Order: sequence, then structure tokens, then C-alpha cells
Amino acid sequence: MTDNGNPYLPYPARILRVTEENSQIKSFELAFTDPERHRAFTYRPGQFVMVSVPHGGEAPISISSSPTRPGGLTLSVRKAGRLTAALHRMTAGELVGLRGPYGRPFPVDELKGRDLIFVAGGIGLAPLASVVNLCLDRRGEYGQLTLLYGSRSPADIAFGAELEGWRRAGVKCLLTVDQGGEGWTGQVGLVTTLFAQISPDPGRSSALICGPPVMFRFVAAELTRLGLSDQDIITTLERHMKCGLGVCRHCHLGPKLVCAHGPVFTLAELRGLREAELS
Ligand SMILES: Cc1cc2nc3c(=O)[nH]c(=O)nc-3n(C[C@H](O)[C@H](O)[C@H](O)COP(=O)(O)OP(=O)(O)OC[C@H]3O[C@@H](n4cnc5c(N)ncnc54)[C@H](O)[C@@H]3O)c2cc1C
Repeated sequence: MTDNGNPYLPYPARILRVTEENSQIKSFELAFTDPERHRAFTYRPGQFVMVSVPHGGEAPISISSSPTRPGGLTLSVRKAGRLTAALHRMTAGELVGLRGPYGRPFPVDELKGRDLIFVAGGIGLAPLASVVNLCLDRRGEYGQLTLLYGSRSPADIAFGAELEGWRRAGVKCLLTVDQGGEGWTGQVGLVTTLFAQISPDPGRSSALICGPPVMFRFVAAELTRLGLSDQDIITTLERHMKCGLGVCRHCHLGPKLVCAHGPVFTLAELRGLREAELS
């Protein structure tokens, strides 16, 4: 989507709807102001866009909606700093800039016929939501769907409406919080404690993971213990990014660029990269 000749120029998109997921995360449904561009915009789960706000800067954000669903493009954003705080102050009707989509997506075609285990921590559920909804829209093409989702506290559990819909659609959704609280009767502990509740068939299972780097290390170890191969353990990585399109090398991970070679990588690919925070 860079037919204006300058790959760094964003296209204006209007905020159609803002959903408050929790005190830190909001979801923004967006549509390009140019209807032709909106119609032509295609993406795949796992890809991201560079989002800009006037005087707020630019940041990479994963697309959390599914390309199988009509309507706007959704970004779920955790308030972290300048750009994301500026976005959080915006309301329906206002304009942001978008360029992309960028990055290597999840291999949803190669995953057909597999049982899928989604493992998310916090805002990490955003890119995985895109895959879950795609699988539900093409239900016959995928096996069992299981989600292990960890949040800091019950109040931090985001994507409540989504979780409800997935449960109704037959996704096994297991939740845990780092710290419980009054009224919470569910699991307390890190997301890895949920592995005791599942027994996947390693021969037909693949796992898709998104969360903080430290979570990935422990989750990957659990999945390996359960017998999944490095090829079947897939994650999306976050690095500080500038250009988003493989030019500036700001997001390099050894010889790889997270923006262009990733952000989706298999554990097999990461094993060779010393900086990949696996140990
Ligand atoms: C491929 C990709 C996809 C992403 N998808 C999402 C998403 O769907 N939703 C979402 O909320 N966030 C996502 N992020 C993270 C998001 O890009 C950062 O939170 C954002 O850049 C922060 O910008 P800021 O201007 O608000 O914060 P800044 O003012 O730039 O920084 C605030 C704090 O956040 C830290 N920070 C900035 N960028 C990153 C980063 N990339 N990784 C870790 N810490 C960072 C800074 O070190 C600083 O401590 C993604 C990042 C990448 C690389």
C-alpha cells in the first residue's frame, strides 16, 4: 500500500469506534478515509501497521481484527508512552495515519488441520485474536482451539467480549492472573501453570505465542516438554522499530530484522540467534 511513491507517507484513517478493554488497553476500529484504499487494503494475521498521530510520533501496532471479517481494521493498544497515550486520548471521528501492512504473518495456511494452542500474556492477545477469529470463520479447516491467557490481575483481563464469543464458539479458554483478588475464583499463577490443564497431541499440535519476552522463554520450555517440535512453536516478537519496512535495521536480531523477516518466527529459527532471549 505504498503507491504514493513514498513508503514513509501515512494514509489518513478515521477512528470509527473505541472500546475500552481495561484501564490500560483500548481497541480502535479504523477505516481509511479513501473508500477505494479501504476496500483495497488487505492483511494477514500477525502483520502490523505503523500508526502515527500528529505531534505524537509513530509506532508499530499489530492488527487484531481478522481479514475474514468485513468492516474496519482494529488495533488494540496498551498505553506505554508518547504515541500510545496520544492515541488513548482520541475519540471516534478523529484521524490517525497508517502505513503498512508490514511483516511476515502467522503461517495460517500451513497450520490447516492442526490443533492450535494460543498462549498470550496481556496485550499479546491482540495479534493472536486475529488468528483465533480467522480459524473460527474457517472452522472446518482447523482442529481443536485452546487459549491460555495470563493477565496481571482480574481487572487487567482484556478482550472480555471476544473471550465470551470464543467460549461460545467452542474455543477452550483457560485464564489465569498473577495476583487474584476479592471475587476471583479462577486460577492464580503465571500462564505456564495452565499447561497442567491441557494434554495436546504433539504430532498434531502447533502453538502460537505472544507476550513479554520472559514469558516466551518459559512457555517455549513447557511446550518442548509436552513434545512439540521447534518448528511447531511459533511466536511474534517485539523490538523497537523505526522504519518498519526493512531499511533502517533498528530492530535487528542478529542477522534478522524483526520488521521484515518477522515479527513471526518459529522457535527453530530463533534457536540460531544468540540475542533471541531464549535462555
Ligand atoms: C511488531 C510489533 C507489534 C506490536 N503490536 C502492538 C500491539 O498490538 N499493541 C500494543 O499496544 N503494542 C504493540 N507493540 C508495542 C508498541 O509498538 C509500543 O508499545 C509502542 O511503540 C510504544 O510507543 P510510545 O510512543 O507510546 O512509547 P515510547 O514513548 O516510545 O516508549 C514508552 C516505553 O515503552 C517502551 N517501548 C517502546 N517501544 C517498545 C517496543 N517495541 N517493545 C517494548 N517496549 C517498547 C520504551 O522503551 C519505553 O519504556 C508492538 C510492537 C512491535 C514491534
